[in-house]
Order: sequence, then structure tokens, then C-alpha cells
Amino acid sequence: MLASRLAKPFRLDGVAFFRHFCPLLNLSALFCVQMLMKPQLDLVPKSSWKANGPLLIAGPCSAETPAQFRATLTPLAELKPDYVRAGIWKPRTRPNSFEGVGIDALAWSVEISRELGLPLAVEVASGKHAEAALHAGVSLLWVGARTTVNPFMVQEIADAVQGVEVPMLVKNPVNPDLELWIGAIERLNKAGIRKLGAIHRGFSGYEKSIYRNHPNWEIPIELKRLLPDMLLIADPSHISGNRLLVPETAQVALDLDFDGLMIETHCDPENAWSDARQQITPSSLAELLQNLIYRRPQTDDVVFNARLEALRRDIDGVDAALLELLAKRLALTAEVGAVKKDNDITILQPKRWAEIVESRLQQSGQLGMDAAFITRLLQLLHQESINTQVKMFQEARLNASKTAE
Ligand code: PEP
Ligand code: MN
Repeated sequence: MLASRLAKPFRLDGVAFFRHFCPLLNLSALFCVQMLMKPQLDLVPKSSWKANGPLLIAGPCSAETPAQFRATLTPLAELKPDYVRAGIWKPRTRPNSFEGVGIDALAWSVEISRELGLPLAVEVASGKHAEAALHAGVSLLWVGARTTVNPFMVQEIADAVQGVEVPMLVKNPVNPDLELWIGAIERLNKAGIRKLGAIHRGFSGYEKSIYRNHPNWEIPIELKRLLPDMLLIADPSHISGNRLLVPETAQVALDLDFDGLMIETHCDPENAWSDARQQITPSSLAELLQNLIYRRPQTDDVVFNARLEALRRDIDGVDAALLELLAKRLALTAEVGAVKKDNDITILQPKRWAEIVESRLQQSGQLGMDAAFITRLLQLLHQESINTQVKMFQEARLNASKTAE
């Protein structure tokens, strides 16, 4: 049985092959984003979150003490956030760091936020958390990145909120996996949560970056393509991990048409018990909001629209030409595959690949193009050519074994 399984040729379809080799080729998550089917969700209209303008959720990473919470929320109230946030239970990467005050903080967090007329949002990481938060009168629940990765925990939370009309937000999973993110959203929607949205907080990566969690904007953009009617906000605090980068990251999110922001705000950020580097004071938040440029997705300006239309027609033409060239290239790589197969030559030719990278980078450099972009593009082209050739070799082996039978 095992022997016959092992004897089967190693078959990978396009997507499986892609997933298999993506880490090896060190491709950005952009190219690991698959074209997924549009999920069918039953959602309240996006406008029921907020009639106009971006949704704002602000407040400390953790509710530390009643005094800290009150000192943070009192000036925040003037900025009229839609919700204030508070971490009650903190999922920490390592033990022995502050893991949140826990259930005792729920009652006073609800009390202080109510006193100031601010609806409270809390992260829940289990069914028990969700039940306790609902019982205490929390207005919005969100699922954190370390929970979204675990379908068992998400399902437990979904079971706990079944039949309750509470708004919920789902942060992306720590790893760049769009299906996992959508899966968590689907579970909550199936449990009857219709006021439901997503929070983009960036993705962990092994590579060094200026960000704490790399934004990989293409992933939330794909989520938006699949679920255009769902609220999608950004969390510049957890993306950047550094208070200096928060305003710029918030601006990028708005320029990418995000529906709102979650920003960690603390009365004394340097001495915060968690995420001290990325929190900002309420007055810095006021300044940040004032400096943000709120752009419109569209305009009625006839001259602008005509200019945009003309440029888009040019782009359509260039894309059509690019696709024709791509088809030509793919046909050539298939011919190369046939020649290699007939002569029992390996698919991967490291020397040729190195020459391609070097010469194309030189030419693209002269044309003023970004080397990282061209490298990714070349990797994608090369991978497609390998993909085609692997399939050809496999088919030839299958045909040979059928003829031998
Ligand atoms: C948080 O919001 O404080 C938090 C723990 O965030 P994340 O789930 O994005 O890591
Ligand atoms: Mn935090």
C-alpha cells in the first residue's frame, strides 16, 4: 500500500506547486494570494457602522488600572471616537510578560467608558472571554490575530455569541493567509453576527523590516475585492510597532480606501504595561487626525475624469500588449521544456536563471525600475515556466507508464 503510494509520481497542481515553492523562492505574499471565490455573507450595510467619515477606535493596548483608563479616556472623549478599545486579556508571545489584568478589569472598564459616553471594544480569545465581555456590557468584541489563526477557538467564540446582536471585528491572522481570515469571518457570520468587519494589523515575517508586522497591503485589498460591502479598518499601531510610523501608516490606509482606524492610545505611552513603543498620547492622536488627508474615492470633476479615463485606456492597451507578450513567452518556455525532456536535461538551470536575473536587472535599472519589483516579477515568470515544465515532464512519465502497462 505504502509502496504503491510512493511509486505514484509526485503530482502537484498549479496552486499546490505554487504554495510548495513560494517559501523557497522567497516570494512576497503578494504572489501567494490566490484568486478565491467570493464568500456569501449576510451583513448589515456598511453605513450602519458610521454614516460618513472613517470609523475611529482608540484607547490603550491594555486596561491597566482604573486611573490609567480614566486618564486616557477623558481627553479621548473630546475626539469622539466611535469606540474605545481596551485589552483585558493579552495574548503575549512569551510567558512572564504582562498578560492583561483579566476579568477584574472588565467591570471598571465598562463603568468608566459608560460614564464618559464611549462604547467599549474588547478583544476576546475564547468562548469564556466572549461570555464574560457580553455579560459585563461590552459594546463590541474583536478577535485578535493570535486567535484568528485557530479555527477551534474562533468556533468556540462563534458558539458563545450565537444569537447575540453584538458588532464584531476580526483581525487578520498573524500569518499571511487570506483564507484563514475569511474562514473566521464566515464562522461568526454563520453564528448570526451581521454587524461584522475586519481589522488589518499586518503579518509576521522572518525578514527584518521597519514594521513590526508587515502590511502586505495586497492581502486586505484582495479581501476588499472579495467582500466590498464589509467594513475594513486598519490598525497602524500593530502594523508599525513604533509610534513614529503610526501617522504615515494611518495615511496609507486611508489612501487605500480603508473604512477606519484602530489606534492604540495611552495617557503615558512610555510607561505602558504592553506595547509601550507604539502607543501615542490622546493629544498626539488629535494631531494625527488633524493632519490626515481625507481623500474621496471619486469626483464629478469632468476634466479630471476625462484625463483619468484617457490614462486608463492607455493602461488597458499596455496590458493587452503585455498579455500577448506573456503568452509568447509561455509558449517559448513550453518549447524549451519539450527540448529538455527529449534530451533528459534538468528543468532548473541555475546558471541560465542567474544570467536572466542579472541581465534583466541591469536593463530595468537603466529604465529606472525598482529592482525589488523586477526581482519579484522575474521570480514569478521563472516559477511559471518551471511549473509548465514540471507538468510536461509528469505527463510524459504518466503516458510512458500507461504505455508500459
Ligand atoms: C492588540 O490589539 O492589543 C493585540 C494584541 O493585537 P493583535 O491581535 O493585532 O496582535
Ligand atoms: Mn497592543
